[in-house]
Amino acid sequence: MHRSLTAVASSARRALLVVLVLHLATGATGAASAGVTASGPGVLGRAWVYPVGPPAGPVDLVHDFDPPDDPWLPGHRGVDIAAPVGAEVRAAGSGRVRYAGPLAGRGVVVVDHGTVRTTYEPVAATVTVGQRVHVGAPLGTLAATPGHCAPASCLHWGARERGRYRDPGALVRPAAVRLLPLGERTLSGDPPPPPATGTGAPLDWPVAQPRVTSPYGMRVHPVTGVYKLHDGTDFGAACGTPVRSAAAGQVTDVGMRGAYGLQVTVRHARTAAGELTTSYSHLSRAAVSPGQRLPAGRTVGLAGTTGSSTGCHLHFMVYADAALADPMTFLPGQ
Ligand SMILES: [Zn+2]
Ligand SMILES: [Zn+2]
Repeated sequence: MHRSLTAVASSARRALLVVLVLHLATGATGAASAGVTASGPGVLGRAWVYPVGPPAGPVDLVHDFDPPDDPWLPGHRGVDIAAPVGAEVRAAGSGRVRYAGPLAGRGVVVVDHGTVRTTYEPVAATVTVGQRVHVGAPLGTLAATPGHCAPASCLHWGARERGRYRDPGALVRPAAVRLLPLGERTLSGDPPPPPATGTGAPLDWPVAQPRVTSPYGMRVHPVTGVYKLHDGTDFGAACGTPVRSAAAGQVTDVGMRGAYGLQVTVRHARTAAGELTTSYSHLSRAAVSPGQRLPAGRTVGLAGTTGSSTGCHLHFMVYADAALADPMTFLPGQ
């Protein structure tokens, strides 16, 4: 922590100055931007602001980030922030304007920030392609073109990082989630033993008192109102509840994964149903690292509400030979 802070000290100081100036200019009191400047993963030394409304928020989200599970499926690849027509739209971060003009009948501005690219629409642009913009610099105004918030008006704000859509709001929000695994020692002890089953099911419950709050299958998304596949089983889990590996295996992935929030993925041994992989989403903390081998029941992290989530719970997914499956068919009692 000390090393990385030292390494980015000069650029962070410059970025903090920019944030400070913004705060002075707008009278914003939130410290969110400054906090992210020093600690935001992937945005080290760089300040990010909301593109409309108070730079550090809060903003009024009409639609939250809800990326599709596959690139060809419908989804919402950004966030919609309520704002009046004519409101100033500004660059969320420093960068260079890559596109500014009509696209499919709407005014669109695209800004390159290195590995991150942000998009803004519908916008009547006042910038030109190739122009350098500082964080918070005006890009134009919110256009009167009816958008998907009609009859209300909103700015659709998107972000991509290395070709993957990501939640643009995560650029600005305080870094409440530490992405680095904290290790078992930081956890407050082992979770209670799992319920006795003796059924020989290939997987065991990922939380101590399993209570399904939303099953796998088609449903109306609670945040976006869109009818789509709920690709896992939701278990009620208070914030901070230990979440454990449903079987012995090896951690293959740990990180922020868009709408899934902080997610841990574990690959298990081959079973009669094929090779099983499980993932644990919306975690507040991860307790394991990629490559780590786990016994069944090992705590992989703590329940949380990161990503697109309306409250602390566990979104538990199962793949059999890489195909999505209903987790309940692998759990005891089925
Ligand atoms: Zn939108
Ligand atoms: Zn879920």
